[in-house]
Amino acid sequence: MKSKMKIIIALVAFYTLTLANAINAQNNPAIVNSSIPIEMLFPQGKSKALILSFDDGNVADRHLVKLMNDYGLVGTFHLNSNKLGTKDYLTKEEIKSLYKGHEVSGHTSNHPSLTTLSKIDVIYEVLEDRKELERLVDYPVRGMSYPFGNTNDLVIEAISGLGIEYARTVGDTYNFGMPIDFLKWQPTIHLFGKTNYIPNDTANDSRELAQFYQLTNDFLKANSLSLFYVWGHSWEYEGPGNKWAEVEKFFKMVSKNPDICYITQLGLTDYINAYKNLKFSVDKSMVTNLSSIDVFVKIGGKAYTIEAGSTKQLN
Ligand SMILES: [Zn+2]
Repeated sequence: MKSKMKIIIALVAFYTLTLANAINAQNNPAIVNSSIPIEMLFPQGKSKALILSFDDGNVADRHLVKLMNDYGLVGTFHLNSNKLGTKDYLTKEEIKSLYKGHEVSGHTSNHPSLTTLSKIDVIYEVLEDRKELERLVDYPVRGMSYPFGNTNDLVIEAISGLGIEYARTVGDTYNFGMPIDFLKWQPTIHLFGKTNYIPNDTANDSRELAQFYQLTNDFLKANSLSLFYVWGHSWEYEGPGNKWAEVEKFFKMVSKNPDICYITQLGLTDYINAYKNLKFSVDKSMVTNLSSIDVFVKIGGKAYTIEAGSTKQLN
């Protein structure tokens, strides 16, 4: 009887210990730590990023780029190569020097609505534009924006495999989220665009401006990871109801802010891809960055820089 009791006690003690070890193992981050959150930060470890993106390559880009340069802002400019040199468009000769320090990107050769074209014509419009812009700027052009913002699954299928790594729509989100799909990239807001569509509607004008500045202030005050993607056309700020003073006011509001990373659309695309391609060890105590870009992350609430091409021990 006594020996049976001893065996039972021994068994209970054994299973209790085993169970305790199992629970301990689960709670020990060195053994299982899939619950440790990993968050992306923007380049230089910043929590905010600003993309300024303008379409069409109108001559008014000369004034726009000068303003951006004055305020230390960087932009992405989507151009129709076959329109360059025609009335109201920039010349091919000035593209490289005008957009120095900014990104030149595609917008198709002739600005058709891609959803109305056959697959082969979509491919032609996108590839010809890439090829000619690359000849003008001397670097690979790897992104675009859709003319009129128009796209669908057939267009996306046609441009996949043409070396286009991101493509922007005009479906404003009015939020600061990260792109969900690079080929259906939705911006945050149109820079004073709608005001020009209803030129005599002053109430609408002030509503649009109020919404724009509200969003800008929300971005400046934001505490969490925030991407403010602003797009437009320089020609919208010309003519009657001239908006250049408003454009400059906005540039002043967002410029020279140490919390903001000023980046091109391609720059952010490459950065997000580098982040997504980080290689973590199973227990998340080490990480390798295979890219040529320094990646900034927060792991378990602590900020780290994972230098380009390095393996880092995390502690
Ligand atoms: Zn356009």
